[in-house]
Amino acid sequence: MTDPHTKEEIILEGIAASTGVAHGRAVVYLQKQLDVPSYDVADDALDAELARFDKAILETRAEITAVRDQIAQSLGEGEARIFDAHLLVLEDNALLEEVTTELQSTKKNIEFCYNNVAQRYISFFRSMEDEYLRERVSDIGDVSRRLLHNLIGMQKVNLGQLAAESIIVSEDISPSDAADLDRNKLLGFVTDAGGKTSHSVIMARSLRIPAVVGTHDATKRIVSGDHILVDGHEGIIVVNPSEDRLYKYGKLASERQKRDDTFSSFISEPAVTLDGASISLMANVEGAQEMEHVQAMHAEGVGLFRTEGIFLRHHGYPPESVQYEAYREVVEAAGEHPVIIRTLDVGGDKTIGDENVKDDNSFMGFRAIRFCLGNEAIFTTQLRAILRSSAHGNVKIMYPMISGMNELRMANRVLESVKKELRSEGQAFDEAIEVGAMVEVPSAAAIIDLLAAETDFLSIGTNDLIQYLIAVDRLNDQVAHLYDPAHPAVLRTLKAIIDGANQAKTPISICGEIAGDPIYAGILLGMGADSLSLTSSLLPEVKYFIRHIKKSDAKALVAEVMQLSDSNDIIQRLEAFRQQALGDLA
Ligand code: PEP
Ligand code: MG
Repeated sequence: MTDPHTKEEIILEGIAASTGVAHGRAVVYLQKQLDVPSYDVADDALDAELARFDKAILETRAEITAVRDQIAQSLGEGEARIFDAHLLVLEDNALLEEVTTELQSTKKNIEFCYNNVAQRYISFFRSMEDEYLRERVSDIGDVSRRLLHNLIGMQKVNLGQLAAESIIVSEDISPSDAADLDRNKLLGFVTDAGGKTSHSVIMARSLRIPAVVGTHDATKRIVSGDHILVDGHEGIIVVNPSEDRLYKYGKLASERQKRDDTFSSFISEPAVTLDGASISLMANVEGAQEMEHVQAMHAEGVGLFRTEGIFLRHHGYPPESVQYEAYREVVEAAGEHPVIIRTLDVGGDKTIGDENVKDDNSFMGFRAIRFCLGNEAIFTTQLRAILRSSAHGNVKIMYPMISGMNELRMANRVLESVKKELRSEGQAFDEAIEVGAMVEVPSAAAIIDLLAAETDFLSIGTNDLIQYLIAVDRLNDQVAHLYDPAHPAVLRTLKAIIDGANQAKTPISICGEIAGDPIYAGILLGMGADSLSLTSSLLPEVKYFIRHIKKSDAKALVAEVMQLSDSNDIIQRLEAFRQQALGDLA
């Protein structure tokens, strides 16, 4: 650990993934599996094992009590109650007696015995019908991890309950880790791996937490306790920032604030260009917790509701009632505005930890609609919950990763049978519910006329479309430099999709991350997109930009950049257009 301000500054570079600047203490989070050792213990050493166990229980009790008190103070007694349950699990007599019996019968080290017993309890509770009992699995999991850490003497970091305000430095952060992040204490995050569109980064953006990813080796160069500054605008991390550096950042922050205030002053105005063309600006969300901000940003509804967050936070497949409530909350908060609920896009980097998801991080595998069509019970449960939520507002259904007409038709057949079932039960839903598809696989782009003819709307998922088109894994920091939205192949494909949808008069939107970047928003408008769906915090700048350009200029810009063969030239031209529109604010 280094003293702040007295040590030399070290600058690390990465990819600017989520804007903002964070300054605070680093906590290095290593995800390596907890390796529980297994070894034989001599008869005369059994008592020593039990003494080690008693000591670890006392340490764990003190830790849980400290976290409990901290949470009670900051969030209230209600939120702290979960830790009372953890204390009960920790000191459960039946469980502790089983550990002693296990020790005497196996004569193995105590952590091995404890882990065996805890795993047996977890399997038992997981098989329970009762939802409340099933949820005890995560309590036992949390407590046993804590206790095992104390027994094995490893570093303890629980992303869900950080002990103090911290910046997490990690090899990677999976979407399920991100779903658990302690939003109250997390100042920012830095990862060795990852790219701009990895799902944990998208989550950081929606939480408005600064992030720098793809640093390759930050976990090796930063140690827990270091003072670091994370600049999510420029993609740099400063270890031991000097007083001078902190002063400069303070000044920059107040300039950025002034700029943001100017953007925000137009937030309640419509997204209309100087020559009167309008485009609808909608929000990408992961759940109801974001809706207050979405409304404050005057989004015209939700253009992409990524439902996976609900599943990841649930650590499994939530029952219909839980999903229905989660969807209804968002739909009601949106009021008159539409909410496009995307069906489950599990797989790729989002795994729920179920044995059904066998691909190891494969974006081209059993993912999204493929997974849902192969697991009809899971799909049906979700469709029932979405349809029921449609009785409360303006809901649309969108399928992810459609790669051909068969998939679309099969998904629609399941949807029709779910509707029939709900009708026979007398359950209310919107009979005229619109159904759309994401265009994010190149094969879908190639058959855009066919797809547009059988859908009510389309939305381009550029995060995936670009990775599949250029063959560049969106998570891999070693190929992140090849991830290029300005690649002529990307621009041509986007134009062909938008032209095809316009010809069929099927509304077309863009919901990938480029929709939130003014560099690209201009050409998307110029190509003829009907709406953009983006992280709500980026909405003020995009709206300001739209209000300061002409659609005729945007169209001319499209014609011009379509002639260019080098993406650096294209970016330069797009950047010049942006600067012209934003003036001093650029
Ligand atoms: C996309 O692929 O562009 C998209 C919006 O979906 P996701 O990022 O969730 O894959
Ligand atoms: Mg996608």
